[in-house]
Amino acid sequence: MKKLDLGLYLHVPFCLKKCPYCDFYSLEMKISKYLENKFLKALKEELKLLRFFLEEKFGIKDLSFITFYAGGGTPSLLSPYFYENLFNFLNKNFKFSPKELTLEANPETFTLEKTKAFYEIGFNRISLGVQSFSSKGLKFLGRLHTLKNIFKALEFIVKSGFKNFSLDFIFGWKGQGEKTLKKEIFKALEFKPPHLSFYELTLEKGTPFYQIFKGEKYWIKDEKLMNFYKIIEETLKINGYERYEISNYAIPTYECKHNLLYWKLKPYLGLGPSATSRIKNLRWKNPRNLNYYLNSLLKEKKLSLKIIENLNHYELAKEYIFMGLRLKEGISLKELKRKYNYYLPKDILDTLIKEKLIKRRKNRISLTFKGKLLHNQVVYYLWENLCS
Ligand code: SF4
Repeated sequence: MKKLDLGLYLHVPFCLKKCPYCDFYSLEMKISKYLENKFLKALKEELKLLRFFLEEKFGIKDLSFITFYAGGGTPSLLSPYFYENLFNFLNKNFKFSPKELTLEANPETFTLEKTKAFYEIGFNRISLGVQSFSSKGLKFLGRLHTLKNIFKALEFIVKSGFKNFSLDFIFGWKGQGEKTLKKEIFKALEFKPPHLSFYELTLEKGTPFYQIFKGEKYWIKDEKLMNFYKIIEETLKINGYERYEISNYAIPTYECKHNLLYWKLKPYLGLGPSATSRIKNLRWKNPRNLNYYLNSLLKEKKLSLKIIENLNHYELAKEYIFMGLRLKEGISLKELKRKYNYYLPKDILDTLIKEKLIKRRKNRISLTFKGKLLHNQVVYYLWENLCS
């Protein structure tokens, strides 16, 4: 293989304050110019070394990045200069003409000047971490920003020229009722975002919330949660949004191209500590440790990647089912057989159809509304019955 089209993800491991529910790798700190430059240097080194690594492993000589996504952490904490410098480097050394360049942003980090600069250097999509349009919600979630910060950030996004942006929410927080949720959705719709994400609050092991609530969201029962999902899906549907992935909604053509690469098992490279990459059957992960990451690259001049998995057909088939069933379009049974040489017996599928968990159209299966609520359980059931 000589040429490869792929996505590029950058993990920015800095936050102004660590949120009590968050499991992503990030360090609570103020970023000095010195640290920003050091991080930039390490990223360039990582890109150079990855190029050798990919040529050696797969014979890939020509990398063409078709999407760019800065996630975190808080990518909007870094300066526009940082990204401009990185983009120049990418332009010089690779084929870098992504159709979509996303910056994840926290409302309290935006100024008009900074937002304009992000737009001018090439970002064309903002994923704004609103989390909640209720002060009570923001307080419960331990967020730094206020409602005023959100409104200001939205004003800056529009004034700077961004046509494509996503508002990202967390729902199911303690104290949120159906009325509040509906109000939040309608507030969001006032800003006409082309894309919305609604993530259910989960209590992840190792987070302060997990400890405080002993791993249990006692305030929300299954029925209430189901109603929340219903309210979100139905309200957004009436307003022209398609639930194209379990947690993601978009006006047609505004689906996140970068994230679709993950769900469709397409190749992508991840830069920065804790980032994962996947090329063909190989998947690897950088360690969740900034110092280790910086030292490996800058002092030892070697990649910091730690876990390399060589996925066999069985693992790939499982991943195809897991990821594909997150999408509205679901999975193709033909593809499962052709690409991975596995199939799902008819009686197993019929059981799930009878339980109204999946629907089948010719050679494709996808989850119903009920199935989406039980995505993991359906997937495990299919995994257990996967045949070669
Ligand atoms: S700002 Fe985002 S990445 Fe940082 S701690 Fe909060 S939720 Fe996690």
